[in-house]
Amino acid sequence: MIYLDYQATTPVAPEVAEAMQPWIEDKFANPHSPSRWGREAAAAIEVARKQVEQAIGLSGGRLAFTGSATEALNWALKGTMEKAPQSRRRIVTVATEHAAVLDTCEWLEGQNYAVTRLPVNSGGLVDLENVRAALDETVALVAMMLVNNEIGVIQPVAEVASLAHEAGALVLCDAVQGFGRLNIPDGPDLVAVSAHKIHGPKAIGALWMRAGAEPAPFLHGGGQELGMRSGTLSPELCVGFGAAAKLATKQRETDHAHVEALWDAATAELSSGWTVNGSPDQRYKGNLNIRHEPLDAARLISDLRDIAFSLGSACASGSGRPSHVLRALGLSDREARSSIRLGFGRYTTKSELIDAVRRIDGAARAQQGLAA
Ligand code: PLP
Repeated sequence: MIYLDYQATTPVAPEVAEAMQPWIEDKFANPHSPSRWGREAAAAIEVARKQVEQAIGLSGGRLAFTGSATEALNWALKGTMEKAPQSRRRIVTVATEHAAVLDTCEWLEGQNYAVTRLPVNSGGLVDLENVRAALDETVALVAMMLVNNEIGVIQPVAEVASLAHEAGALVLCDAVQGFGRLNIPDGPDLVAVSAHKIHGPKAIGALWMRAGAEPAPFLHGGGQELGMRSGTLSPELCVGFGAAAKLATKQRETDHAHVEALWDAATAELSSGWTVNGSPDQRYKGNLNIRHEPLDAARLISDLRDIAFSLGSACASGSGRPSHVLRALGLSDREARSSIRLGFGRYTTKSELIDAVRRIDGAARAQQGLAA
């Protein structure tokens, strides 16, 4: 099996599995209990919290653990709007955001909040003039991702944050695909991250909140996470997240150089006829989204069973609808259905990537009746 689906999830790092092990087996105490064991687990969670905060790299805020980045994004959006003044009932977001943002915004529209969805250009990037034009004294929150999960392009989050702040709005950054891989620029008031995209465990995320910009409490109950997100924390998941964050910080330059070299190797191997989706420059290079019209991308993925790659997003694959991100770039349904995403990272070797690209390329050409 050649794994090329690093945007969907990443393999758990051996160092992370090792750090988690004692907390799964022997050290099972409830971290909120006052016993010595409980206090030991609570202390380990606080170390992990610092490690994740350091990897986010922003100051003047604090971090709450959540069950996923989806939960962090739901909390940030709903809790910010709940606290917003009556005069500010609008969210500005982007047409290419993840479903965790877009579907939550749609739900908020049903609660009588207004949502402006900004278009993107053919490279997948927002135009700052459109951002400026959408901002006024009715906007409470701007929600924008750092790196797009389907096409890898990097939005100008710092510039957008300063425009939003001038208009008196807060900024939420979905940093899931950039966290641990790139610098998170200063500016956002709220940042959502996830462990399983950085070689950590699944089902744990976090919301970083600038002091004074905390959303309303989300989960009510035992008062954990400063009374804002109740529920017993999992020491093993928190410790795993912390270990993954620490490792990502340590390995960032090496990981980055590695994905750049892999990108060069993969693109050099593709025959003519393939086009890269999304801006070639403003991007994270561990995400190669390409199309070869008129390919049936879904068929290609099911034919090449021992290579794990995807159609840009799990949501698009499940519904049979073409990706909303590729459609937002101006691609036709047919072009979107001819697109595949190859995602690679820390543990991908150059030789397996080249082998996979050759086979994908050959199968795509064969499907279209072209000579190999
Ligand atoms: N935002 C982006 C950009 C993502 O890629 C993902 C995961 O696919 C999420 C949010 C949701 O993260 P989680 O799986 O932790 O809920």
